[in-house]
Amino acid sequence: MDITPDTIRTTVDTLFDREVAFLTELVRHPSLRGAERSAQDFIAEELGDCGFEVDRWEVRTEDIAGLPGYSAVEAPYTDAPNVVGALRSRTRTGRSLILNGHVDVVPTGPLDMWAHDPFAPEVSGDWLSGRGGGDMKAGLASNLFALEALRMLGQRPAADVFYQSVVEEECTGNGALACLQRGYRADAALISEPFSEHLVSAQVGVLWFQVHLRGRPTHVAYAGSGANAIEAAFPLVAALHELEADRNAPERRHSEFADAEHALNLNIGKIVGGDWASSVPAWCSFDARMGLFPGEDLAELKAAIEETIRVAAAAHPFLANSLPEITYFGFAAEGYALADDARPTTRAAEVALRTAHQTAAGAELELEAITATTDARFFGLYADTPALVYGPKAESIHGFDERVDLESVRRVTQTTALFIADWCGLEGI
Ligand SMILES: [Zn+2]
Repeated sequence: MDITPDTIRTTVDTLFDREVAFLTELVRHPSLRGAERSAQDFIAEELGDCGFEVDRWEVRTEDIAGLPGYSAVEAPYTDAPNVVGALRSRTRTGRSLILNGHVDVVPTGPLDMWAHDPFAPEVSGDWLSGRGGGDMKAGLASNLFALEALRMLGQRPAADVFYQSVVEEECTGNGALACLQRGYRADAALISEPFSEHLVSAQVGVLWFQVHLRGRPTHVAYAGSGANAIEAAFPLVAALHELEADRNAPERRHSEFADAEHALNLNIGKIVGGDWASSVPAWCSFDARMGLFPGEDLAELKAAIEETIRVAAAAHPFLANSLPEITYFGFAAEGYALADDARPTTRAAEVALRTAHQTAAGAELELEAITATTDARFFGLYADTPALVYGPKAESIHGFDERVDLESVRRVTQTTALFIADWCGLEGI
């Protein structure tokens, strides 16, 4: 059979029920951070069935802790293996490729806020519901079934292709970093994160930090003589929001975010403190997330945060004598801008994706700068590899009733298969 864009697209269609079944089963595995094992077992088995050489290993902190891009973690990786499936070319006449996706999902939040069980996916019309359905198990499905469609046509990429299913994207990116450390490299990477079939031109960096306050416990009847550690956090949060406003000022913005009013967001994501209602709380800690532009330095942002906390604490009657402590766990992620990378390989990868998208979607590829991070930075910043972030349309990722548009998944699978055929070339199996 002649291999044409049409036969590739039709074969994706033929396999689409299988692809949706794969995605449904994958969403059933509640692969919350630190509990990715069962989902990874499922993927490793599917890769084996589809003819990949499967590499499955436990991420070890000591292997990656000294590398650029590493983020400190508290949780172990004992239930979070990484999985890579390799398809090795016989001829190696084309350009090699990494297809990357993360298998971890963010917490569900209160289950009574969901219309459906987040781990019992349901299809309704064009939508498949469930935590991780969009972010980004649909991308893991499109990456796999793009290659599977080529296999059904008796074809294989004419360059090595590595299918990566990585852990812990949502709070560090150490899963992707561990793949680099293990030696996986290619001429380009495609990460099928759910950004509405747009190509991500730039992404912000993300820093997580924790602020710890100590008060003085006293009976609430004498609260005036105590120091309320919870209430003392409020002026610190207000000061951090002032820092946030300063850092979003128009003259500080990266060019890809010039029109973004508020690209860098401070989020106070968690607060704990105190012991019960009738004691002035002696302790309080809050966890925060702050963004930074591509090209900005994490150490400089940390220094600005520390100075902001120090100045705000010095103006507080109690905290001035009991300075808060700041620690860093989770994301220490620099920003990354594909748009800043003018190398010929990068432009060629973008053109190949543009052409594939035009064929599958019948529309021009749109570019988008995003105010979140992805694993693209590991390829782009630390491995000299252009990283294309392009995936299906999803809604409520990180929210309640997350869902993904299946027709969009189908188009992205077609685009991915066409992109692989162009970028890598094809050879007979
Ligand atoms: Zn994601």
